[in-house]
Amino acid sequence: MDRKQLEIELEALEGFQDPSPGLEQYTTPATLASTLLHHASLNADLDSPVVDLGCGTGVLAVGAALLGSDAVGVERDAGALAVARRNAVRAGVRDRVEWVQADVSRVCLDLRDASVVMNPPFGAQRHGADRAFLRRAAEISRVTYTVHNEGSHAFVEEYVGELGGTVTQAFAASLELPRTYEFHREESREIPVEVYRLEFGAGSL
Ligand code: SAH
Repeated sequence: MDRKQLEIELEALEGFQDPSPGLEQYTTPATLASTLLHHASLNADLDSPVVDLGCGTGVLAVGAALLGSDAVGVERDAGALAVARRNAVRAGVRDRVEWVQADVSRVCLDLRDASVVMNPPFGAQRHGADRAFLRRAAEISRVTYTVHNEGSHAFVEEYVGELGGTVTQAFAASLELPRTYEFHREESREIPVEVYRLEFGAGSL
């Protein structure tokens, strides 16, 4: 499946029904999700299992499954996971994705060589929320793709270094967010983001 086809499939998925600002629930737009996944696939990084931390409505996990991987989505919000389950059915990949309702910092995942794809909370509402995601990614993955807001490079490089990993690639992208919450003033908003590819080899947690 090429990038455009993947984008079309992901565009048809259901979004959050009742998004919670405290959990920073924003669906990754189909363009960004398909770009990230296509990039990972070109780098041969979507070998199974693919773990989507904070999967929300499952866009990244379902996308990875559409590209042929076995995927696991971890999300603590039951409502979002119910949507994710429906999305897997809708996309015809129900047999390829497992959903786990849990907090990413507590969930027990007995993995070391997974590929993680994630669009974690940026920590705008709860400071440090993104650190728990990076820590967990360091424990379970060989390669991680993660989305952060613009200007996070120094932070990500330093924190990932502390976790025993390295940033091997970075690219800029943008996230068009529809007006989701009352505190949003504009109809939609273009948010510049950065996608990082991280490698965790021997010596990580
Ligand atoms: N990755 C999804 C959703 C991004 S929003 C997508 O790309 O569409 C971030 C998601 O992380 C939300 O669904 C939120 O509920 C979830 N989340 C936030 N903190 C979490 C935690 N500690 N454990 C598990 N999920 C968490």
